Amino acid sequence: MSPAPAKPVDRQLPSDEARALLGLTRDLVERELHPRAAEDEAAGRFPREVFRTIGEAGLLSLPYGEQYGGGEQPYEVYLQVLEELASGWLAVGLGVSVHTLSCHALATFGTDEQRDRWLPGMLSGEQLGAYCLSEPQSGSDAAALRTKAELQGDEYVVNGTKAWITHGGFADFYSAMVRTGVEGSRGISCLLVPADSEGLTAAAPEHKMGMTSSPTAQLNFDGVRVGRDRLLGDEGQGFQIALSALDSGRLGIAACAIGVAQAALDLAVDYAGTRQQFGRPIADFQGLSFMLADMATQIEAGRALYLAAARRRDAGIAFSKEAAMAKLFCTDAAMRVTTDAVQVLGGYGYTQDYPAERYMREAKVLQIVEGTNQIQRLVIGRHLSGK
Ligand SMILES: Cc1cc2nc3c(=O)[nH]c(=O)nc-3n(C[C@H](O)[C@H](O)[C@H](O)COP(=O)(O)OP(=O)(O)OC[C@H]3O[C@@H](n4cnc5c(N)ncnc54)[C@H](O)[C@@H]3O)c2cc1C
Repeated sequence: MSPAPAKPVDRQLPSDEARALLGLTRDLVERELHPRAAEDEAAGRFPREVFRTIGEAGLLSLPYGEQYGGGEQPYEVYLQVLEELASGWLAVGLGVSVHTLSCHALATFGTDEQRDRWLPGMLSGEQLGAYCLSEPQSGSDAAALRTKAELQGDEYVVNGTKAWITHGGFADFYSAMVRTGVEGSRGISCLLVPADSEGLTAAAPEHKMGMTSSPTAQLNFDGVRVGRDRLLGDEGQGFQIALSALDSGRLGIAACAIGVAQAALDLAVDYAGTRQQFGRPIADFQGLSFMLADMATQIEAGRALYLAAARRRDAGIAFSKEAAMAKLFCTDAAMRVTTDAVQVLGGYGYTQDYPAERYMREAKVLQIVEGTNQIQRLVIGRHLSGK
């Protein structure tokens, strides 16, 4: 059963343009995402054409500069758009966030010539990107990656396996962290790899607990030749690039988490207002209305936290610690809120008749991706101790 359209979130937005953008996003969610999300999730079908529609609407390039075809929007606006998309369908919200992450290396560390050549295509909405850091043996300890790139003349020859790649096998380009030098974080570089490179293949998508319409796959590099001109930043700068992308990406995950939590709350409030027990709507029982109040409070707190971090980013102030805090808090809140939404719906919450169980399965992955929540605590702890 699809949830009834909820009242729009009462947002504080910086401009009329931002208000129009959020309105456009909500329309798109109602028209393109709600009608098919449950069915495509159940079938494990990747909605590639939805990304084209989103791209045509200009929503695949919001935080990047206008001269390259981006939307030139502040992060606080981009993230709220992401939140709305994720509230309709996490696989789409997270997909937009991953695409944005995959453009970061070129947009931020590329030369003018590289940006002129490749960025407009990546931001046009036609191409979809993926970000390749994790490997089978290196997840949290990302600096232990082994995929090797050896320079032969004017080309790098890449061999190795990347794991858990969102859009793996469906993307048009991959921003890939590879080892070009010594062991550890200083021997890593970033390459922009076209998806149709010879020797680059994707395994079948993983069978996941949730977000089944978003493909997650291993990528195998078997002697893949990548032009030296596709090195982004300097040799050895790849780990710095990866972490810088993740600071921004984590804010995207935080916004997606609040989107999923908001969808779960809207469903729970709607259900509690109509479901009757003991001759009254269950929302009249204090035990339940307090639960709804706690859910709403966690969502508002999470939204305030990710927006505060985004506003620091927009102002050019350091935001790495705040991004880790927002990712940690918002994704833990989403897990609690979606679990409580299942409880509010009682037995129906545990069935696929309502999307509450889907929201709960979706929330779980957000505590794992782009640095598990243990790693976020580690990042925050290091900031506190100055290490
Ligand atoms: C659906 C999905 C999509 C993904 N998409 C991408 C993608 O597009 N690109 C990409 O590069 N990666 C992607 N990932 C990979 C993701 O980033 C990793 O799964 C994550 O970083 C954790 O790595 P791991 O799975 O190897 O777990 P491990 O690192 O093996 O961790 C296992 C457990 O140990 C804990 N742990 C590890 N080290 C510490 C420590 N020092 N202190 C405390 N606890 C610790 C972890 O928190 C976790 O609970 C995706 C993963 C999933 C599930």
